Amino acid sequence: MPIPLDSRKKPASVKIHVSTGAGVDIVWADGHPSHYDFAYLREECPCASCNEERNKKAVLAGFAGPSSSPLLPMYKPKPRAQSAVPVGNYAIQISFTDGHGAGIFSYDHLRSICPCPDCAREFRSPGA
Ligand SMILES: [Zn+2]
Ligand SMILES: [Zn+2]
Repeated sequence: MPIPLDSRKKPASVKIHVSTGAGVDIVWADGHPSHYDFAYLREECPCASCNEERNKKAVLAGFAGPSSSPLLPMYKPKPRAQSAVPVGNYAIQISFTDGHGAGIFSYDHLRSICPCPDCAREFRSPGA
């Protein structure tokens, strides 16, 4: 996969704070800074099995009416990164402390899941 030509999806600087658990900081070629928690990235893992999980949850959430008994929240420690390695020059692969390591986060994907409201509007608003 080539580096995206879109400067909004090209990283100018990437810092992955594995040992401190602080998450990932990326400054994009267009000057926009993004910060991602590892827990957030774990939830947004783009691999096939996590995609399936998310779809299942979305379907279940659609079925569950307000009268259905709420699921007890299971205690789950916040996942952190065990290791993170660059994949070529287009992605990073993160292994999480919950044992999951299949997720390859392309910079393209990372920019589109930037948690800030600007990117939510730009990349995730319906019909955009
Ligand atoms: Zn995954
Ligand atoms: Zn953003």
